[in-house]
Amino acid sequence: MELVGKVNNYDWGKLGTQSEAAKLAALNSSEFKADEKTPYSELWMGDHPSGPSVIKSSQVELGKFIADNNGNGLIGDLDKLPFLFKVLSIRKALSIQVHPDKKNAERLNAERPDVYRDPNHKPEIAIALTPFDALCGFRTNEEIEKICTRLPPLSELLGSENVKLLSTGAKGLRTCFEKLMTSPENLTNACIDAIATKYTSVLQEMGLLESFNKIKRDFPGDSGILALFFVNLIRLQPGEAIFLAANEIHAYLEGDCVECMSCSDNVVRAGLTPKYKDVACLIEMLNFEGTPPEMKLFKPTQIDECLERFAPPIKDFAVDKLSIPSSLKEYNLKLDKYGGIMLVLNGERQLVFSDGKELNVQRGSIIFIPGNIGENLTLKVKEGKADNFQGYIAKYNSYL
Ligand SMILES: [Zn+2]
Repeated sequence: MELVGKVNNYDWGKLGTQSEAAKLAALNSSEFKADEKTPYSELWMGDHPSGPSVIKSSQVELGKFIADNNGNGLIGDLDKLPFLFKVLSIRKALSIQVHPDKKNAERLNAERPDVYRDPNHKPEIAIALTPFDALCGFRTNEEIEKICTRLPPLSELLGSENVKLLSTGAKGLRTCFEKLMTSPENLTNACIDAIATKYTSVLQEMGLLESFNKIKRDFPGDSGILALFFVNLIRLQPGEAIFLAANEIHAYLEGDCVECMSCSDNVVRAGLTPKYKDVACLIEMLNFEGTPPEMKLFKPTQIDECLERFAPPIKDFAVDKLSIPSSLKEYNLKLDKYGGIMLVLNGERQLVFSDGKELNVQRGSIIFIPGNIGENLTLKVKEGKADNFQGYIAKYNSYL
């Protein structure tokens, strides 16, 4: 079943045809035309009420179609898709955020439904499509201490007594981060200005100048700029991934990625945003264990010569990456009873389902694969059109 995805235009999106989300959307639907001055931030694939995909042939919303056919095994024994699948194209940094675990999500939703509208948790995985910069997880205490030594305005802001506490582990880190997030704006601004004017060569040596300038440009005067010195800066190459578990501090800075997450809207923001910041709540739930950046990369499992699987330690989703070389005329994909959503990023193939049905797909195609169509799906090269095929499939994580 071919789907039409939903594009949105948040201000942080890449403009016009620079946006991978817009490029794919234009190939996905002939009705979509990118305007070069408009930001295209995300392409949503799924049944989330805020941006439901529709079935191309009938224009029926996917969620409605699944609900109406409940019991037919379209998504196994589930009653709605547990994940939301997206392409993100980021020009301007996204807010520093954390997603609550299920228990906290339920509590926040019960206490303040106006701000926290969703009782579900929201772990997420981001797989880079282009070089992709993100902040992810706290740096080790040693590293933050080192940065403070090299940037006196930062240690001054935090207070040397607090900086000393960094050697005591997670509690010291919490004290320093809380101090940063609760310092008055005039002090954080003075700190940012002092670093920007007197310490550019130090930032350059630490490999942080470019990102510091970018965040400062995107969010002038936001204390979240200084979070760069607390949180790991990670540059993903295409195909590399990070997994954001509950309570993990993160922010996406720039680039294009596919993202899959539990179907939820649950975000607690801490900076780099004009939206509501809930610092007390954030401090309460954050994971203050510092880790080196290389430990933040989430590695896939190689299933066969063409298939890599990103299967995080939660049930809601897994993402398969399919890379079929032009030399392989036929590839047999094993399906399970939960089906999934496939996004084609490159190449063209004839899909042949177990029931004999066929479908031609190419870059920009979004396919809902029902869970009740048998165990095999064959991807065949089209006559005279041998090319490298690449696609991602979001699915229920039945592998745990
Ligand atoms: Zn997030």
